[in-house]
Amino acid sequence: MKIRELLQQKKRRFTYTAVAAAIIGVLAFQASFLLDVQWILAAGLIAFVVAGIAVFGSKYGVRCPRCNGNIGSGHNNFSARPLIARPLANCPFCGIRLDELAAA
Ligand SMILES: [Zn+2]
Repeated sequence: MKIRELLQQKKRRFTYTAVAAAIIGVLAFQASFLLDVQWILAAGLIAFVVAGIAVFGSKYGVRCPRCNGNIGSGHNNFSARPLIARPLANCPFCGIRLDELAAA
């Protein structure tokens, strides 16, 4: 697996977890107000905490496998294609090419 694919996978997991947890949190809040059940409100709060942790992980948990530099904080485009931002080609900390194979 390439380093780029590894970083994309980590970023995607954090993003999907954050979105899913936020949706669950909103639904749990609405359900708790409609049904007047307290434990659903607690579940919603836990879901929002999980969403916050996932956002934090997306910002600080996507790290270069070689130098452990925090690549995820300022870069969102790890794909090989340009979207809005130009894709990152090298690690900004150690300079390793993101298309090299990651050590297993
Ligand atoms: Zn690096």
